[in-house]
Amino acid sequence: MTTRIYLDWNATAPMDPAAADAMAEAARTWANPSSVHVEGRRAKALLEDCRERIASALGAFPQQVVFTSGGTEAIGLALNGAQAKRRLVLATEHAAVLAAAPDAAVVPVDANGLAHLPALEAGDLLAVQHANNETGVIQPVAAIVEAAHAVGARVVCDAVQTAGKLPLPPADFVAVSAHKLGGPPGVGALVVRCADDFAAVQKGGGQERGYRGGTENLVGIAGFAAAIEARRADTGWLDRAGKLRDGMEARLAALGAEIVAASAPRLPTTSMIRMPGVPAATQLIRFDMAGIAVSSGSACSSGKVGASHVLAAMGMAASAALEVIRVSLGWTTTAADIDAFCAAWETLAAARKAA
Ligand code: PLP
Repeated sequence: MTTRIYLDWNATAPMDPAAADAMAEAARTWANPSSVHVEGRRAKALLEDCRERIASALGAFPQQVVFTSGGTEAIGLALNGAQAKRRLVLATEHAAVLAAAPDAAVVPVDANGLAHLPALEAGDLLAVQHANNETGVIQPVAAIVEAAHAVGARVVCDAVQTAGKLPLPPADFVAVSAHKLGGPPGVGALVVRCADDFAAVQKGGGQERGYRGGTENLVGIAGFAAAIEARRADTGWLDRAGKLRDGMEARLAALGAEIVAASAPRLPTTSMIRMPGVPAATQLIRFDMAGIAVSSGSACSSGKVGASHVLAAMGMAASAALEVIRVSLGWTTTAADIDAFCAAWETLAAARKAA
């Protein structure tokens, strides 16, 4: 089998070996953490140890960490568990946010994907993502939270793409997910900094201090803890990835690529690249055949390439948006991976020009 090059880290990061080891070890502590016997208490001790380690890596307090089945559930818990007079969501939010608050007022963004905030009022609950999963554009969450708190509004932040990369934003509710940072899919957490007027959505046996019913996924949580610690231990990886990303963008721009939101603050691991004249669907197939996994920013669970609501909200014409792919890097991405991608990009763009 030829060696594959994985440049789709924003979809899911490869599982960190430390996470896989921690999960194998935790599988031996299989009891229910709510049971009072020795086995149960052992499982509870592991659960609380993981909670402390995850909280410490995130810069939160352990009692603020509510484990969930992932980012989607954490977002739903925040948006539907917190009382609000009015809900507002950015137009570029992930589908998990848009679907959790279908009646929310939609906040527009500018051509760089940055929020145009309306006047907020007391009792508002605003969802603002930390970094966009398609473009990597980073919202000024700290300033937005300050403005919201000044009028008595609260902020939910989807930090699924930034947890393990950037410091946790200072929002009232912050959603994180393990599988974007080297842990397993199917586990995440909501950091609850303001528990006033906040209650469980998924009710049950009173787990997670009553905020989320259901026996905790201890094996997954152990993988989450190991992965987030691995990210914190390697402080240089984000800079390394950022240099590779910047070099790639400069090289492709010289070949005629258009980089989406190039001048906006962005996650250093993410790039959205338009190859004029070549549909994204064609690009994805060609890169896949060349051994390179990338995605269209708008890839959805059906695997189809559709129009991106994120690019549409930024004012990009649908015809141009359908020629954009997302390249996302991670901690094991090498200069050779990026060279191979740039070479494949050049070949494809040259073939289009010759056609
Ligand atoms: N929010 C963002 C920005 C994401 O990228 C994702 C994952 O694709 C989610 C939320 C959903 O997270 P999960 O897959 O853990 O439910």
